[in-house]
Amino acid sequence: MRWTRQACVEFDAEDVLGELRALFTLPDDRIYLDGNSLGALPAAVPHVLQRVVAQEWGQDLISSWNTHEWLQLPQRVGDKIARLVGAAPGELIVTDSTSINLAKVLSAALALARDRSPARTEIVSERTNFPTDLYVAEGVARLAGASLRLVDIDIDSGSDGGGGVRNAVDDHTAVVLLTQVDYRTGRMLDLAEITATAHHAGALMVWDLAHSAGAVPVDLHEADADFAVGCGYKYLNGGPGAPGFVWMHPRHAAEARQPLQGWLGHADPFAFDADYRPAPGVLGFQAGTPPILSLAALECGVDTVLAAEPFGGVAALRAKSTALTSLFIDLVDDRCPGMQVVSPRAAVERGSQVSLTADVGIDMYALVQALISRGVIGDFRAPDVARFGFAPLYTRFVDVWDAVERLAAVTDSEAWRDPRFAQRAPVT
Ligand SMILES: *Cc1c(COP(=O)(O)O)cnc(C)c1O
Repeated sequence: MRWTRQACVEFDAEDVLGELRALFTLPDDRIYLDGNSLGALPAAVPHVLQRVVAQEWGQDLISSWNTHEWLQLPQRVGDKIARLVGAAPGELIVTDSTSINLAKVLSAALALARDRSPARTEIVSERTNFPTDLYVAEGVARLAGASLRLVDIDIDSGSDGGGGVRNAVDDHTAVVLLTQVDYRTGRMLDLAEITATAHHAGALMVWDLAHSAGAVPVDLHEADADFAVGCGYKYLNGGPGAPGFVWMHPRHAAEARQPLQGWLGHADPFAFDADYRPAPGVLGFQAGTPPILSLAALECGVDTVLAAEPFGGVAALRAKSTALTSLFIDLVDDRCPGMQVVSPRAAVERGSQVSLTADVGIDMYALVQALISRGVIGDFRAPDVARFGFAPLYTRFVDVWDAVERLAAVTDSEAWRDPRFAQRAPVT
């Protein structure tokens, strides 16, 4: 045994990011390893929402659109997120959900590609992509008279080593749509390399950063991507149902058009023109009225990530995250013989999560429920994966130790066999 609980306590004492945990309100009696699905509550949120509700909504009422700059909130929070993903101010807007943003971005990218070459009628994505991405891509393709082609990328080849994307793209490809960090396995793709592969074939590249933004270094300009979308309620800690974001490379600003032409994507919404004129650049990806309460909470969440900037920013978060996930893998290998690590073992190919499955005979859903009953919150992803996220802003090394301790207790005792743990809830 290489590690001890005392060693973990010492890692925490030396951790330069350790004090950031105080920016969150976390339950005392639980170890939260699901920040990849719903980020923890920033301690500032109740106060900020109280102010926005009581003063801005309650007292200042509709004038708040001007006096409290509600109308600019999607851009202000967008500029903050831009700092986390290698984008410039003005290039990224917070709006709608990731699913809806994907529909807008895919439609825009498809139209751009076909304008250049009408033979480009295919969206290429990955078979194991998050289902909403595939559903939306299929729906957009159907409306546009295009098609969706799914490829396989080997789990242990973050760089498309198996050539799944390379072999699929050709002069029929309009758009490649991929999620950088796979929700089920945590496998992380190389943004720059795969973007270059898409561009080499003459296609546009759309990235889904749902499991990346706020947890792993992303440089959209360095990768030379065309469009990106991302999620507000995972590592950005924006709260349940927080809006997502859209980024567009400025080279597409003049031409790109998205189909959900709502009034807030108009160049001058309060002119109440009968004719639609898109707002410049990514502002035109807005459609309807922004959700101000959700945006106010999301801004608090993004601020918790930006609070890491004096300590090394996303690079420091990433270093801690890989240390946490590597420790978890080491401890599971040592202490939980029935468990298999599904995530890539090479830290550079892994996001901020570790997924486990089991030898035959262990019900992973029940295992996750048994762990939850012992205060370790992870989640289950069908068909057979237990998923543990290690949000580096608030997860401690000692949490990793204690979580594996309880996991080992559950597997050794077969506590998961209790029938109450087999009852499936609607959300897993
Ligand atoms: C979480 C996630 C989404 C979420 O989409 P919503 O529209 O916010 O429900 C989309 N794509 C990926 C890859 C995700 O991980």
